[in-house]
Amino acid sequence: MNYDIAIIGLGPAGCTLARLLSPSFKVIALDTKLQTEDEGFHKPCGGLLVDDAQRSFVRQNLNLPADILTDPQIFSVKTYDLQTKLIRNYQRSYVSFDRHKFDLWLKSLIPSKVTILHNTLCKEVRRIIDGYQITYIDENKTEHNITTQYVVGADGANSLVRRMRYPQHTIRQYVAIQQWFTDLHPNPFNSCIFDNESTNCYAWSISKDGYFIFGGSFPKKIANEKFEQLKEKLATQGFIFGKPLKTEKCLVVYPNRFGDFHTGNENIFLIGEAAGFISASSLEGISYALDSAEILSKILNSGNPNPNKCYYQRTIPLRLKLYSKIVKAKLLTTPLWRKLIMKSKVQYIEQYWIT
Ligand SMILES: Cc1cc2nc3c(=O)[nH]c(=O)nc-3n(C[C@H](O)[C@H](O)[C@H](O)COP(=O)(O)OP(=O)(O)OC[C@H]3O[C@@H](n4cnc5c(N)ncnc54)[C@H](O)[C@@H]3O)c2cc1C
Repeated sequence: MNYDIAIIGLGPAGCTLARLLSPSFKVIALDTKLQTEDEGFHKPCGGLLVDDAQRSFVRQNLNLPADILTDPQIFSVKTYDLQTKLIRNYQRSYVSFDRHKFDLWLKSLIPSKVTILHNTLCKEVRRIIDGYQITYIDENKTEHNITTQYVVGADGANSLVRRMRYPQHTIRQYVAIQQWFTDLHPNPFNSCIFDNESTNCYAWSISKDGYFIFGGSFPKKIANEKFEQLKEKLATQGFIFGKPLKTEKCLVVYPNRFGDFHTGNENIFLIGEAAGFISASSLEGISYALDSAEILSKILNSGNPNPNKCYYQRTIPLRLKLYSKIVKAKLLTTPLWRKLIMKSKVQYIEQYWIT
């Protein structure tokens, strides 16, 4: 074998695993992103770090550098229900950051002993005796093969590792669309929008560094049409869009059943969104990417003789928590339940207006 471990994808999950693995392993990590701030693939993201992700950073003894943060830091989310016309303000302790800078920073923390191939696409993962053969295309468009004992699929929502090795384990995927506008609102705000006529998931807006980012997650075939329809509706609710400066699109996993989560087998491991680890109620996924990578690193570092079984078992609490998010999502996207929750005014903060 050329390597002990091959990590496919260096988002938060892959970077965290590469950082936490013992230096005794020979590790290679492949990632399609470029190492520059402006060019190449940028992951569409709200760039909000929730409490759970902040907790993972505490555990991993990491602090967020200030140059990754964005302005302003907003402590509430205005929730709109377009069916009942209810609007509620809920407190949230999110840290707002620039997602691409965040990814590059996480990559910069990977020890130099790990071989990193940037701008490299993994094309195939093939079973061979005692391990796997990985075929990849490097930045010069040349094809190469390497062999490895373990493969880690950290390649996100449209994971090639999951699709190739577990084609029977499909998972519900939606299309996330985000558009960037110059922020013309008198007061920057973050919002969460429910509109069952547009999607049975949800939409959001975020004010960041002078931009107003509007996004939503929609069933694949009708995504563009529903996104535009929702914008038209919100324009009548005080949202100011103007001319889009940038449009981003990507697949996002939207888990629906406990069986949607898949941790891998036969020396293949899935971590982060590739495993289906993302909250169905908020589409928050960074905390699960960090946590699943940390769990796997501990198992591999300990030399456990049955790492797949152990990873499956130790992610049970994480998967149960994610299942509770599926239940929460079903409640929040059901108009009657949502109305009752919002009408109850639980955790609602009334805003103070100077007249
Ligand atoms: C629009 C949107 C907004 C979101 N907002 C938030 C938010 O505010 N807060 C939050 O916590 N979560 C948010 N999420 C979820 C979060 O972005 C993901 O759950 C998280 O990025 C998952 O991390 P990951 O490392 O598993 O995968 P990813 O971050 O998707 O990383 C996968 C990496 O693998 C690489 N890759 C993919 N295929 C290959 C291949 N074949 N070969 C080589 N490399 C490959 C990609 O380039 C990428 O770098 C959002 C998601 C979307 C879609």
